[in-house]
Amino acid sequence: MIRQAKGKTPRRLPPKKASNSQKDPVGVYCRVRPLGAEDEECCIEVISNTTIQLHAPDGLKANRNGEFKETQYSFKKVFGIKTTQGELFEDVAKPLVEDIIHCKNGLLFTYGVTGSGKTHTMTGSPGQGGLLPRSLDMIFNSIGPYQAKRYVFKPDDKNGMEVQNQVDALLDRQKRDSQTTVPKTPTTRRIDPEFADMISPEEACKADGVDEDSSYSVFVSYIEIYNNYIYDLLEETPIDPIKPKWNVAGTPLRNNTEFIPPQSKILREDQNHNMYVAGCTEVEVKSTEEAFEVFWRGQKKRRIANTQLNRESSRSHSVFIIKLAQAPLDADGDNVLQDKNQVNVSQLCLVDLAGSERTSRTRAEGSRLREAGNINQSLMTLRTCIEVLRENQMCGTNKMVPYRDSKVTHLFKNYFDGEGKVRMVVCVNPKADDYEETLLVMRFAEMTQEVEVARPVDRPICGFAAGRRQRNQAFKEELTRRLEERGGPLDGESPTVLNQLLQSFPPLPPCEISGPNDDVTLPRLIEALEKRHKIRQMMIEEYNKTANMLKSVLQEQDSNLLSKENFIQEQRGKLGEKDKMLQNQKNEIDRLEKKSKMLEYKIDILQKTTNIYEEDKRSLQHELESREQRLQREMSEKRRMEARMQGIVTDSKLKWEKECERRVNAKQLEMQNKLWVKDEKLKQLKAIVTEGKTENRQPQRPSREKDKVPAKRSASPSPVPTGPPVRPLHRRSHSAGGERWVDHKPNTNVDLDTVLQPNLPNAIKVNAPSEKALSKCDKYVLTHQEVASDGEIQTKLIKGEVFKTRGGGQAVQFTDIETLKQENPVAASRKRRSSETGPDGEPKEGDWTDVETRTQKALRLL
Ligand code: ADP
Ligand code: MG
Repeated sequence: MIRQAKGKTPRRLPPKKASNSQKDPVGVYCRVRPLGAEDEECCIEVISNTTIQLHAPDGLKANRNGEFKETQYSFKKVFGIKTTQGELFEDVAKPLVEDIIHCKNGLLFTYGVTGSGKTHTMTGSPGQGGLLPRSLDMIFNSIGPYQAKRYVFKPDDKNGMEVQNQVDALLDRQKRDSQTTVPKTPTTRRIDPEFADMISPEEACKADGVDEDSSYSVFVSYIEIYNNYIYDLLEETPIDPIKPKWNVAGTPLRNNTEFIPPQSKILREDQNHNMYVAGCTEVEVKSTEEAFEVFWRGQKKRRIANTQLNRESSRSHSVFIIKLAQAPLDADGDNVLQDKNQVNVSQLCLVDLAGSERTSRTRAEGSRLREAGNINQSLMTLRTCIEVLRENQMCGTNKMVPYRDSKVTHLFKNYFDGEGKVRMVVCVNPKADDYEETLLVMRFAEMTQEVEVARPVDRPICGFAAGRRQRNQAFKEELTRRLEERGGPLDGESPTVLNQLLQSFPPLPPCEISGPNDDVTLPRLIEALEKRHKIRQMMIEEYNKTANMLKSVLQEQDSNLLSKENFIQEQRGKLGEKDKMLQNQKNEIDRLEKKSKMLEYKIDILQKTTNIYEEDKRSLQHELESREQRLQREMSEKRRMEARMQGIVTDSKLKWEKECERRVNAKQLEMQNKLWVKDEKLKQLKAIVTEGKTENRQPQRPSREKDKVPAKRSASPSPVPTGPPVRPLHRRSHSAGGERWVDHKPNTNVDLDTVLQPNLPNAIKVNAPSEKALSKCDKYVLTHQEVASDGEIQTKLIKGEVFKTRGGGQAVQFTDIETLKQENPVAASRKRRSSETGPDGEPKEGDWTDVETRTQKALRLL
């Protein structure tokens, strides 16, 4: 509340100092404008009438670790794209207008990125008037009949308001009428089509509980804050023909020679520590139209200045201040009380802030860039102030709020420090391009909601009885009626009431004196007049008595009324407290709800993270299992390989052992043969020496050897690599067709269908060794199959030479082994083994599973 700066008597404390106990949070509202084009990407969704959700646009999602892709923000209320200007006004500005009428201050600002609808919300357009024209309209609808005459209230130059006496006011009015060219009655004026339909009459609304016993006047100011300079948009700039026209940067203006750059204003603090723009024009307006016309004049001036000085309007803050002065009527309800102390001034500031984006949307260079920096600076200061305020309030700290760092915050410092309702409309454009800026706007808005501002108190009562205006009005009406009835009082004539009174007196006696001796008429007249005088005296007394009585009754009534009013006031206070309590609880609930929402969101994220980890764990386990399986496979492969290698080693060891044995045997045989030959020679020599007649006899081997030798030979055939053995046996001559072969193939052999087959022409094919066949041939071959260490079938061709023994039998000396190897398709059937013996007690052919057994068998048969 802005109180009057006044007289020299010590000032009473401004009411705000005593009333800081009750506080309300800054009311933050969110308005979402429609998308410019329908196919534009949208990043905002209205979830409820208090919450919106922001989605990161597609392009951005990839950059952000998948974190907080969606965020929710809650406000006192959210207005979707279909909200009309009227609906917005109803919720946001109407309570502020009611407040200003009840002597309480209000501050309303729009905040957002350029193009988000701040100006649309604040000013609007024809047919869609914004908060500003609607607020003006509501004020005039409410105080219309109670407005003071122009110039009754007069602003002083120290942010105060004086009450002029009737005569001075009248003189000022006459001066104005003679100066201005505009017609007196605004209703007959031609309205500028640019703002003709800002408010339609059917939307008109009115505040309740307007104090009829006060008189009101509205004053408006309009300022612009650009580059941290304050300009008065309503200042009448005198045209200076001498001074050259320069713009702010110091270069001559491009065209308009009429244009004079505006002078910046400074901020001052009044006696009550309220900030005001020193020397700022305050225009008294008497109707919505007049007020809006003044606003429009300022708008035009702003536009021209921006064009001339090459400024970007989105970078300036515009502040429209509506001041409402009100003072009680005097006791008879006729005139404004001539007491400066009784004047109340409340104000509503409507602020259209500069675009909140960090960089200029258009290309900013040089001085423009610096300006942009300053404007950013002032919004930054606003943010810092809000932050510090919040911190001070929440943590009980007492940090200095840097209001003075920018003009905007300095001007409004009283709202945050003192008292008054503060409301903010956060405007957002849902298009994806604005996403990042909108995110910052949302954060600021959330923070702002946590700041509390002292609630304004109710205005003190002036002490006069209520209903003065009405009584005065009724009296005046009655007077007029009676005057009209009477056709107006005529000179020398008494009013009708007096006539009636006179008629109630006894009639005067005839006062005609009959003669000089008539001493009856005069005394009678004197007597009658004296009587009348007495009656009059009595009547006066009676009248005074009645008047006094009436006065005391009225006084009583007045005091009754006063006490009732006080009682109502008291009840109102209590109601206010209850309201506050309710509001606090509601706020607490809101806060908890918000917190729980946040926690739910966090839980959700944690759940998702857990799921991801579990998924990872599962896949790792899976991999582990498959690796273990592979390891096992490789181990078993290794074991199989080892077994195979061992088999090969054993096999080749066995083979070599046999080979060694065979060679030893061959050597032995050879030695024996040599021994035998020597023996024989010795015997023959002996015979020659001793008998001389046994020359032609065949040498006989001792019987001992006859039995032994073949067995030994069979066990050790002469090895091939040691060169041709001594052949004491007669070797069968080759037949005409070459060598003749015994081809021994046991029945148990599997037909392997190999391409490489021994080619033996004239061979006698047998499946068991037979002496008959051997006697006809000189070569023997046994086709023997066995399982090799690697499990494959291996065919061995064991070759030998047939000799006739001295005993007349046949002997086979094995000379060579050829080995053929091939993969066996019927390995299983080959594995058959049998221990059965034939009917003659000899093992069957199938039992010959190794070459030794077979050759031994063959040799035994010979
Ligand atoms: P700002 O002042 O934030 O830079 P404006 O108020 O100038 O933005 O809005 C930019 C454009 O968007 C204007 O043409 C305006 O008419 C339009 N606009 C903004 N808000 C709305 C809305 N709620 N409904 C319809 N049009 C809107
Ligand atoms: Mg704008």
